[in-house]
Amino acid sequence: MPLSQDAIAAITSAVDAQFENQVAFLQEIVRAPSLRGEEAGVQRIVSGALKERGYEVETYPLDVAALKEHPAGSPATIDYADTFNVSGRKAPAASSGRSLILNAHVDVVPTAKPDCWTRPPFSASREGDWLFGRGAGDMKAGLSANLFAVAAIEAAGFKLQAPLEFQSVIDEEVTGNGTAAAILRGATADAVLIPEPTDEELTFANSGVIKFRITVQGVPAHPREPESGLSAIEAAYLVIQELKVLEARWNAEKLDHPGFDQLANPASLNIGTISGGEWPASIPFECRFEGRIGFYPGDRPADRMAALEKMLSEIGSLDPRLEQANPRLEWIGTCQAGYRLEAGTDAEAVLASAHGAVTGASLNRSIMACYLDAALYMNHCGIPSLTYGPLTKNIHGIDECVNLPSLKRVTQTIALFAAAWCGIAPA
Ligand SMILES: [Zn+2]
Repeated sequence: MPLSQDAIAAITSAVDAQFENQVAFLQEIVRAPSLRGEEAGVQRIVSGALKERGYEVETYPLDVAALKEHPAGSPATIDYADTFNVSGRKAPAASSGRSLILNAHVDVVPTAKPDCWTRPPFSASREGDWLFGRGAGDMKAGLSANLFAVAAIEAAGFKLQAPLEFQSVIDEEVTGNGTAAAILRGATADAVLIPEPTDEELTFANSGVIKFRITVQGVPAHPREPESGLSAIEAAYLVIQELKVLEARWNAEKLDHPGFDQLANPASLNIGTISGGEWPASIPFECRFEGRIGFYPGDRPADRMAALEKMLSEIGSLDPRLEQANPRLEWIGTCQAGYRLEAGTDAEAVLASAHGAVTGASLNRSIMACYLDAALYMNHCGIPSLTYGPLTKNIHGIDECVNLPSLKRVTQTIALFAAAWCGIAPA
């Protein structure tokens, strides 16, 4: 139901009134480094914050065996022994509105090189309109927006008229298994909102992504007789060249995918790690690299995985050195399809109206050529999922930061969205 002007004013003012507390909370969670597998500290803070705000809170581990069997699960290379998901629920005695999941991931990517940051990456320094830190933009700001949006609705004197689940999930950056575990546990709602850093636009589509590790083997030898050896590092280089050919082929398909044809590199092959060799003056025995490549909504990940496997199995015919290097492939993270939220959903209309009330502007739609947890809710649950969050800079880079005025607007928009979607009544 559309909100009254009075309700809009009361809820947006309540976000305003709490915004300094929100920034302080964001600083607290940025200062809890939560690299993959090390999210427990920040999850304890989030779980405490939810309890203080009257949520019914549960924490639960990820079940690797169950994730393996479920299509929302992706191959994991860690056992999740020291980490867990957090779920907070609020539900009215009788529901008359539409239910909602507010989801955010707390894992962050490594800092690249801490010395190169202008301020230490986990110091959460605030300068002018920006808050700096690894994870500040991707996506602890979004998590703070979810928390303070609901708090503002309550501070304005209302309660939601439908069940709400607040999800704080782990391991989004490598696998998406945190959200997959929430789905396995039965999480469902009439809509999902995930405030990833989207510069206040609605991400309506993303690419499917597969993540791989490839190991090649050389023949070690002394450099005085190089012809008796085979360099694993040079073989890895040749394999990467062939992956670039695959990337170009997959990029050429973009013309068949409206929206994606506007992106320079939708497949976006990335080789993110490489290690190899044993000694400066020995021809290297082994080289291993890891990466990701993307494709289009509607494509089955299994088909793209098979295409990559086939390319590697035939690579020896291109070069006898590659035959001997025998590239071995492992899947080490997200293997998921992309999604496309068709225009015209109620969820998008309610978000656009909330965004308009706060910013006075219409809601832009854009595509992100990366994995997003919204894909799991869209593809495996059929739930309309909105990826919409604040303006940021340098996510996954040096000096990551989030724009605070934008975070305030996004928090207000999420609050108005949740209020209109779930319905409100005087508390
Ligand atoms: Zn993210």
